[in-house]
Amino acid sequence: MNDFTREPAERQQALLADFKRVLHSGRYVLDWRVKCFEALWAGACGVRFGIGVGNGMDAIEIALRASGIVPGDEVIVPAITAFATLLAVLRSGAIPVVADVEPGTALLDMESARRVLSSRTKAIVLVHLYGRMAHMGAWVAFCNHHGLILIEDAAQAHMASLGGSAAGSFGLAGAFSFYPTKNLGAIGDGGMVVTRDESIAETARQWRDYGRDNGRFGSRHLVPGLNSRLDELQAAFLTTRLTWLQECNDTRRKIARAYQDGIHHPLVSLPPMPVDETSHVHHLFVVNSPVRHALRTYLEERGIQTAIHYPLPVHRQPACGTGIRTDPAGLVRAEAHASTCFSLPCHPFLTPEEVETVVNAMNDFTGGEV
Ligand SMILES: *Cc1c(COP(=O)(O)O)cnc(C)c1O
Repeated sequence: MNDFTREPAERQQALLADFKRVLHSGRYVLDWRVKCFEALWAGACGVRFGIGVGNGMDAIEIALRASGIVPGDEVIVPAITAFATLLAVLRSGAIPVVADVEPGTALLDMESARRVLSSRTKAIVLVHLYGRMAHMGAWVAFCNHHGLILIEDAAQAHMASLGGSAAGSFGLAGAFSFYPTKNLGAIGDGGMVVTRDESIAETARQWRDYGRDNGRFGSRHLVPGLNSRLDELQAAFLTTRLTWLQECNDTRRKIARAYQDGIHHPLVSLPPMPVDETSHVHHLFVVNSPVRHALRTYLEERGIQTAIHYPLPVHRQPACGTGIRTDPAGLVRAEAHASTCFSLPCHPFLTPEEVETVVNAMNDFTGGEV
């Protein structure tokens, strides 16, 4: 699914040079390299402010807290996403309200989101699942109409764009993860909140650093913050890797197109084509099959690794306890997706021959009873 050791030698050399520079600088946390990467990434997203944090989950929690979400508020999340999306809402003290997803894309379904609205609903965490952005104009209008804050979970959508605007730039704030497997990954954990709103940026900076005010009142702690800071080493690595991101996304796009064009099997549904090329950065290539288990076993025997994103809709995770609300009409599409989906290898270091091997193996599959 991912083989980081395949990163080309000259790229590894560049990262080793970054490591040496940071080591010899004697400055390791929240210094100028973080500021520089914050400015670069915010700029890439087309917004003014970037706030480097410890990971993607904290980025969501900090975005919610900086937006004024308080305990007891309700926040809508989709049923198919990384558990971190829902957990960040729980950690903020708000109540996650889980809505169903669209068939095919498994993106949040607007009808279901409308059904779960209540007088306590304050925000939506919209997930650009698998790297895909869709209906952004409609979501912005929906949130404006209902007085909701829009937070984008863009952890899988680095540099996806729709109508010329990047993921993370549509909402009041966007949250990114730089976990190693993401399209832009660190050599460890990292994350960022991006926003065009200066006061959200200032509050997010406080939340990531013990709630400390940045200078105006000296070392005053204004909110009961987290310790969630980006370090200089990861900022240096990310600054270097950012120069390769476009090329890596192009490679993912080529792989996705090869799968899309090449795989034809009556027991496999491919994801819908994106509305336009740039709106999808193919963090994951996810297909659905009623014979998932047999098909994955068959692929495994041919040396093709697959994975499931995600085996359970988030509301089924034991950690939710009784602290969530779900769509009263049920989460039927999410359940169906979770029980049939699996991810084919799709990362920038796959060779064209390997992609062809996957296509042929998929097409040659004969086993499996529905
Ligand atoms: C990876 C991911 C997160 C969490 O990011 P971490 O850096 O692992 O905390 C949140 N949401 C989505 C959709 C993700 O894919």
